[in-house]
Amino acid sequence: MSRIAVIGSNMVDLITYVDRMPNAGETLEAPRFALGCGGKGANQAVSAARLGADVLFITCVGDDLFADGTVANLEACGIDTRYVRRISGASSGVAPIFVQPDSHNSILIIKGANNSIRPSTIDEAADALRQSALIVLQLEIALETVYAAIDFASENAVPVLLNPAPAVADFDPARLSKLDFLIPNESELALLSGLEVSSVETAFAAARLLVERGCRHVIATLGENGALYVGQDGEWTVPGQRVRAVDTTGAGDAFVGCFAKFWSDGHDIRQAMQEAVAYSACSVTAYGTQSSYPDAAAFQTFCH
Ligand code: ADP
Repeated sequence: MSRIAVIGSNMVDLITYVDRMPNAGETLEAPRFALGCGGKGANQAVSAARLGADVLFITCVGDDLFADGTVANLEACGIDTRYVRRISGASSGVAPIFVQPDSHNSILIIKGANNSIRPSTIDEAADALRQSALIVLQLEIALETVYAAIDFASENAVPVLLNPAPAVADFDPARLSKLDFLIPNESELALLSGLEVSSVETAFAAARLLVERGCRHVIATLGENGALYVGQDGEWTVPGQRVRAVDTTGAGDAFVGCFAKFWSDGHDIRQAMQEAVAYSACSVTAYGTQSSYPDAAAFQTFCH
């Protein structure tokens, strides 16, 4: 079994269901509260691991009570947590989320210990990273750490995948050209390319521009329309699956984790995209983020 190394964030979602948002200075009772495990790095590590991938997750947690729950959740998924560092004096990454009756969300993100994932973290894990079949990155940690990981992957000939989320406009073009896989959604694709993305045609144009800038394989996710590919192997689309979507949170992370699993197992890019479109479609049929990611058996049932 090949090893996927995910370097990225973990967050604890603090989900408060409110009748309305409190005004400044007001104390209000809310009817319900729930905890959830999230963070883009953790979500991608968990989706790949649920499908049976051998996953190493490199991240940092605080020295608060959320840290134990986060590590326990990763270990329950079979993820190698040897490089999950506990940072004394830091809070864990948390996301207070307020859900209003009309299902509108207001979200705060406190990165906490995730800010301690530094370029030196890459050096500490260098031996394990060199043995990986694929390094998976997102942008919820310090940009300089992401750049250090891309440089490391390039110097050591380890394939590297970047999911450029949350979007940044000023991503270093020199690093873009060192990527094997770039997997943006439509808004990230628009910001990275500087082009408007409002249709499959405009998404193809933006993806072509990023390939011209040196990225080997660009895979853009298109929500209910599936995904498209532009790169060394040509161009194609994988149509979306028609499902009854109830909660699309974390769909992009499900796509990335599943793609990483199937590609690193030796499937070609098109096959891995087909699996990822199906897996992420399955995830939007259930509520929650990680709780909506099926394991291999449940995914098989969904596919048949
Ligand atoms: P993100 O969650 O990062 O914004 P997308 O919205 O593009 O990313 O969704 C990622 C993938 O999830 C899509 O490529 C698609 O396969 C699947 N997906 C998302 N929304 C739906 C939907 N309403 N119906 C079916 N599949 C969906």
